[in-house]
Amino acid sequence: MIVNMLSTATPTEINHIIDRIKECGFQAHVIAGEERTIIGAVGSGGNRSEIEALRAAPGVAEVIQIAHPFKLVSRQLRQTRTIVDVRGTKIGGGDLVVIAGPCSVESEEQLMETALAVKAAGANMLRGGAYKPRTSPYDFQGLGVEALRFLAHARKETGLPIVTEVMSETDVDIVAEYADMLQVGARNMQNFSLLRKLAPVPKPILLKRGPSATVKEWLLAAEYLLAGGNGNVVLCERGIKTFETATRNTLDLAAVALVKELSHLPVLADPSHGTGLRSLIAPMSKAAAACGADGLIIEVHPCPERALSDGPQSLDLPGFQELMEELGRVPVREAKAA
Ligand code: PEP
Ligand code: MN
Repeated sequence: MIVNMLSTATPTEINHIIDRIKECGFQAHVIAGEERTIIGAVGSGGNRSEIEALRAAPGVAEVIQIAHPFKLVSRQLRQTRTIVDVRGTKIGGGDLVVIAGPCSVESEEQLMETALAVKAAGANMLRGGAYKPRTSPYDFQGLGVEALRFLAHARKETGLPIVTEVMSETDVDIVAEYADMLQVGARNMQNFSLLRKLAPVPKPILLKRGPSATVKEWLLAAEYLLAGGNGNVVLCERGIKTFETATRNTLDLAAVALVKELSHLPVLADPSHGTGLRSLIAPMSKAAAACGADGLIIEVHPCPERALSDGPQSLDLPGFQELMEELGRVPVREAKAA
């Protein structure tokens, strides 16, 4: 439930409501806006009718029910958009942020060559997998800590903040030590113990949508992070499983536009995993920008035919440069206010 305070509410009146929400068995999440304060009463097991009764308390404008099962990620609770700052790169601030780099970090040379090229082409952040979730146990599994060191070196050389996937609870500390943003991969979107472990980590999280997750499940996964104290969450649509096999996944751009309506969190699109096909990256990138995505995450490799993972959906270095030039000409859609 949400308690909207009057613009004239005093700090004492606000504190009283916070205390009452806690007494009623809920957590109180305070959003102090420029004009008024909104207090969310979230959690289960509390007494809802007692919160409804707070309508009568001094300083309260209204008490409303949050219509969705997700609360803290909802735009009902927070109308101003969240801007996630990743070492100075602002995601959700109005500019289209482009994250680029190889699917897997394969060697220091491969990563550095890619990092320098994507930086020169105008990318804002560098991606690269150190721990790889591979369908087959016989495929390349990633270089682990060695790759994290290469990523840190590439950041030093280029100034690009780095994002990399954390696959397991046991790797959270080491990945958090190196990365500027931690990626929860599609296969782990509903790994609730991983989400719980990540919630107190003081680094932004990139939460990819599960291949078979509904929008509601995706937002509830994000809710775990916010409820656990990490408000710096960026969502990423990376394609879902449908009956269609012509593309690797079906990039659900309607979900991007919908999530921008439902949530205050920034949303990225991943046209590499979303299609599996290099030739579709540029059109889907432009489409994503046109439907309100806050950014893109794109796989780039100096020699895709030799890539140890996801070569067919990776751009080569000139291909990425070309994409960046094309994107400069695409107007980014301003998201409507709720
Ligand atoms: C990746 O980003 O390389 C990756 C494995 O993505 P996803 O979890 O979306 O499949
Ligand atoms: Mn990949």
